[in-house]
Amino acid sequence: MAKKKPTLTRKAIAASKEFKWFTASAKKWAFRTGVDALFMIQIRPCRPCDMPIELKDSMAVTMWSSNDTEAAIYFNMQQLKGRSKEVIEQTARHEIMHLVTTPLWNEVLRLVGNKGEVYERLHEVHEGLIDRLAYLFGYLVEPN
Ligand SMILES: [Zn+2]
Repeated sequence: MAKKKPTLTRKAIAASKEFKWFTASAKKWAFRTGVDALFMIQIRPCRPCDMPIELKDSMAVTMWSSNDTEAAIYFNMQQLKGRSKEVIEQTARHEIMHLVTTPLWNEVLRLVGNKGEVYERLHEVHEGLIDRLAYLFGYLVEPN
């Protein structure tokens, strides 16, 4: 049986309004937080098969180069297609906050590694914290 062709190409995702909203928000917040001076940031339009396998259900994912000078933000069209502009902008701010907190997270990884109960708990707390920071910054700078 022939493999089913993906319905969306990366080119079509890159041309979507969702990807454009995400990219504009990520660039704006990278500038506002100064992380654009710390990292070369790429924003990649992704089909589920382009996402890191363990994170394929995430709306977006940030990955760092080994020397922490480059970062790639994976935009998961499967999860973000049809979402509101507010949700997409919050997702972009969330990913930028991962870049803002890179030094803190690197210390966590250095001290506890990337598995185990302590790591899992710190990861959960970190995700919650950056999500709240992303909401707060969005609200403070662009109140609705
Ligand atoms: Zn996150």
